[in-house]
Amino acid sequence: MEVESRKRKRRGGRGKNHKKFQNKAAASSEPLTPKKQSNPDKTSESSLSKPNNKSSNFLDKMKARLTGGHFRMINEKLYTCTGNEALKYFRENPSLFNLYHTGYQEQMSHWPELPVNVIIRWLKDHSPALVVADFGCGDARLAKSVKNKVYSIDLVSSDPSVIACDMSKTPLDSSSVDVAVFCLSLMGTNFPSYVQEAHRVLKPSGWLLIAEVKSRFDPNTGGADPNKFSKAICGLGFTSVSKDFSNKMFIMLYFKKKDKRQSDAKDIEWPELKPCLYKRR
Ligand code: SAH
Repeated sequence: MEVESRKRKRRGGRGKNHKKFQNKAAASSEPLTPKKQSNPDKTSESSLSKPNNKSSNFLDKMKARLTGGHFRMINEKLYTCTGNEALKYFRENPSLFNLYHTGYQEQMSHWPELPVNVIIRWLKDHSPALVVADFGCGDARLAKSVKNKVYSIDLVSSDPSVIACDMSKTPLDSSSVDVAVFCLSLMGTNFPSYVQEAHRVLKPSGWLLIAEVKSRFDPNTGGADPNKFSKAICGLGFTSVSKDFSNKMFIMLYFKKKDKRQSDAKDIEWPELKPCLYKRR
């Protein structure tokens, strides 16, 4: 992806999860980038507890590298296994989820715009009565930012409101939601089954919103043909409403559920979606 071509940089920006992770996890839980010391009290506190600033900065950098390496490893795993395998992977070691999201937030802090914010704006422009399912919600930022009833779904429940499951099999009732959201979450090799599950839980005329990394849809660099992808989605029983390719980092696709399914889901030709691998910064 475009992120890959950037020079390695160390910057300070980070997301919400960073602090939580620092508190919860153990030795490998240092941030990806060392935090700027703007608070004089903090500076004196750290100089009291650490032998010397130079060596602690070096240690911080080393730990950040390790964390970044772990993030890229987990990220690659999620893009190359099925949702069920990913669920087992995190169940066996739940702390990897926090590690993943620390790295994810760090990567996102370099994006000029976050796709989740585009979706939040879209929801705010529509009725707050719409019931939403956020497939692959991460830190459930979407649910926290809108008035709508939101079912937040992810492999691990980082918040009591999050339903922990593989999103190809959610506990949601059929025809129970108005908007299904996939924001950078079509990761598993069985991603078509996630969209199929969204189709099941959506009411007729319900919305399907997909935000995905742009490079995954660039046929010039091995990405999928967006038209082929869109056609496959429509084959499940959706109508394409609009597409937005204007953002440098991600694409936005908007669909509506049809009253009737068009063809047998087995006959649909899905393009492969290549993994989004992040390079070291
Ligand atoms: N939508 C959030 C998080 C994106 S990261 C945002 O835009 O900020 C992708 C998320 O999808 C991760 O939290 C990952 O755990 C989740 N995910 C990937 N495969 C999943 C699956 N099979 N079932 C549930 N969640 C999944």
